[in-house]
Parts: sequence; structure tokens; C-alpha cells
Amino acid sequence: MLDLVIRNGQVVTPHGVGAWDVGIQGESIAAVAAPGALAADRGMDATGKIVVPGGVDPHCHLAHAIMSHPEEPSETMGPEDDTRGMAFGGTTTHLDFCYVRPGGEIQPVLEQRAARWNASSYVDYSFHITLCGALDLKVFDQIGDAVKAGYPSFKAFTTNILPPHPKRPGNRLDFGRIHYAMERIAAAGGVLAVHGEDEDVVQFNYEKFRAEGRMGGENMYLVHSKLSEQLAFHRTITLARATGCAVYFVHTSASEGVTEIGEARADGLPVYGETLHQYACFNAEHYKTPRGFCSHTYPSLKFPEDQAALWRGLVDSPLSTLATDEYPTPLALKLKGKTIEDVTGGNTGAEARMGIGYTEGVVKRRMSLERFAAITSTNAAKIFGLYPKKGAIAPGSDADIVFIDPSVRKTLTKDDFHVSDYSPWEGWQVQGWPVMTMLRGKVIMENGRLLGDTRDGRLVARKVDARVLKRPAC
Ligand SMILES: [Zn+2]
Repeated sequence: MLDLVIRNGQVVTPHGVGAWDVGIQGESIAAVAAPGALAADRGMDATGKIVVPGGVDPHCHLAHAIMSHPEEPSETMGPEDDTRGMAFGGTTTHLDFCYVRPGGEIQPVLEQRAARWNASSYVDYSFHITLCGALDLKVFDQIGDAVKAGYPSFKAFTTNILPPHPKRPGNRLDFGRIHYAMERIAAAGGVLAVHGEDEDVVQFNYEKFRAEGRMGGENMYLVHSKLSEQLAFHRTITLARATGCAVYFVHTSASEGVTEIGEARADGLPVYGETLHQYACFNAEHYKTPRGFCSHTYPSLKFPEDQAALWRGLVDSPLSTLATDEYPTPLALKLKGKTIEDVTGGNTGAEARMGIGYTEGVVKRRMSLERFAAITSTNAAKIFGLYPKKGAIAPGSDADIVFIDPSVRKTLTKDDFHVSDYSPWEGWQVQGWPVMTMLRGKVIMENGRLLGDTRDGRLVARKVDARVLKRPAC
């Protein structure tokens, strides 16, 4: 006898969408079967609901040093605050980062981050290893061990993002070291996530805009430009082609980026692209509105033509994931900067991600339910080695399950959010919203009530399937 059966829902599985019952035993899915075929101690009614795999957000920066105001150091909100929003919003796993800087090594920073998350997350988690700055070459020899230990994903920035400041450590990994890292990551069975912007172009633009007195933050899209993304993506793909390394472009913001990803995939390279819901839903005109910087994340919001390319990439191809670049702060801090050098970057979007993705993708743009599950959960799980434990409603997978209620119609207000004192999505109209979140068989949110706690989330060991590393697999 099973512990629980979810009945009467429209279930999104790897084999299609249908009216199936989902049987759960302990923390795992035991069976997906025809209606009425499963017996269990308890039943859960999903009539009228869409039953999808728990969301996987592959790009979060919680408890992270804020870069934009180096004279007043502070941190983004931690997992104990932000993952509450994930529980409400239908995300059951998130991937954050640990930064290895010159003088540092991989193992100690992993341990530090794991200790910070311990008993502090409502949902499951792991970390990408970010390689920053003029790292000693011996750090790259630690890549194989990290992959074996269950951390097969790395991250590199091709730009420092902001102009140099004595109190701000640079994030950029030079292309020599990116090449060196790719050789080792490819050999070890890992994947490299890349923040792709051309450092020369970005830094020159800061210099030029300063000289011209055009310091207003509304110019951000001209400093962190479309061309800069194209150059960096192209250069990175050239190295990926030479090394055979799988590459994942974080926060694709421009049509040029989408094109570069599409061309690389057409050549059979294992190249994957992410975008963010605020890049798809807003453009640079939004910066001129009173709370416009609430939706700024580096690189920048772009033009309507870029939004269209991002949506095409999400609904059809070549983009694989809808993520957040989560970087939660209070509203006052988010709106503190006004210039191209001090606007606070980052997003508070994890809580809204599944609901906005459903409304804008499925309802407004006829995205299939299979594709919705793919971009919000399955693909991130595959690319970063969580699949099939995460990202699937299938026997053997963790019972991470979300109900979307497609009958919910509302204009989002502050009361719909549970992380900060604002959300950039206040005022947005949605049709469909998560109403139940289950993490490994435990209901952690139901009908707007939080039932989980910060001891529920667990560190998940990861291993990427060889098919994902050879050619575009999702
Ligand atoms: Zn990021």
C-alpha cells in the first residue's frame, strides 16, 4: 500500500500529459498509473489542477556580497528568507554559487557555503563553483575532484561587470583561464556556466558614458550592450568547440545571444541557454519608470525585438531554461543607485517564476505543458546533473510536485509575495498560479499556507549524463 496517491490531476510526465494518478511512497514517486489503479493510505485531490515537477531554479545568489555599493558592504537575503518564496512559488530545488577567488581553493568554499545553507533552506539545493580572477593554476587541478564529489558545474564571468574599484574584487576569468578550465571540465564530465559580456566593450562604454556625462542608469542597456553579449558568446563558443566543453549561457538578454546559441547547437555543440522572466517581460523603456530599476539585472533589459527572440527561444528553441539570477534585497536597497555605476543589480523573482512562466508562456504564447515543465524544471535538472531524481514525475524520482491552478486570475500585489518588502511583479496580471508545493513527499505549501520549514531543504549530489555533455540534449 502506497503512502499517498494524487488523483484527478492533469499530470505532466516525461511521456506526455495525461489524466494519471501519481503514487508516492516515502520521499519518492513509486508509480504513475491509470486513474483508480493505485491504492494508498491517503489521497490528494488535484481536480482542475495541472500537476508538474517541482521547479528547479539553476541561478541564485543568496547570502551574496552586493557589488554595486562597495563603500557600504552588504549582502543579499539568505536562503532562510528567499527559499520561503520558492516554497510558495513552486520551486523545490535551487542552485546557488560558491566563489573561488585568488588565494582560495575549491573545497573550503564549498564547505563554507554548505554550512551556511545547513538547516536554512525550505527547498533542496546545491552550488555551482565560480572561478574568479587571476586564480593560481593549481586550483584548476581540483576540478576533477569537485566533479567526483557531486559538484559538476562551474561558472565563469567574461567581464567584471562594473568598473574597477579598490573595494570590489573582480569577477572576470580571463579567456586563457577559461580555456584551461574548459579542458579540465570537459575531461571530468562537467559543464561550464558563463556570464558572457565583452569586458573591453563594457569597460570602454563606462569610460565613454562618463566622459559624455550620460551617467543615468536608464542608459544601462547601451553600456551592457547587445553587441557585447554577441562578442562574448561567440568567443566562448569558439573555445567550447576547441575543447569539447559543454557550456551554459546564463541570463541571455539579446537576440544576438539567442542566435549564437542556436547556431552552436545547429552545429551539434553541447551549448545551452538560459533567460530570465524579467528579460522576457520587460525592455529598457521600463528603466525610465519610477520603480524601473526593480527589474534591472546585469547585463540589462534590452529592446522589444530581444524580448520577442527570448520568447521564441523559450516556447520553441534554442533556449533551455527560465531562471531568475535571484539576488533578493529590500526595496530601499534595490532602488538605492541611480547611475550606470551604482544601480543595484539582481532580481527578486524566484517566487513569481513558475506563475509568470505559466501565464506568459502557456496562456499567452501557447507553450505546451511539456515545454513549460522543461524550461522551469526538467532541462535545468538534466544540464546540471539532477535528473531524473529531480525534474520528472516518474517512478523513482523524488516526489517534488507542484499543482498549478489554471483558474486563478489575479493582479499580483505585495501580499502575494513572502520574501522582501516588494516584488518587481506587483501589478502584473496572472492567469494560473502554484497552489501546492511538495518536496520529497512532504507538502511544504498548500493554498497559500506555508507548511515547510528551513530544515526541509537538503544538499543534493549531482552527476551530469554523458548525453548532455556530447550534444544539445534539451
Ligand atoms: Zn548571476
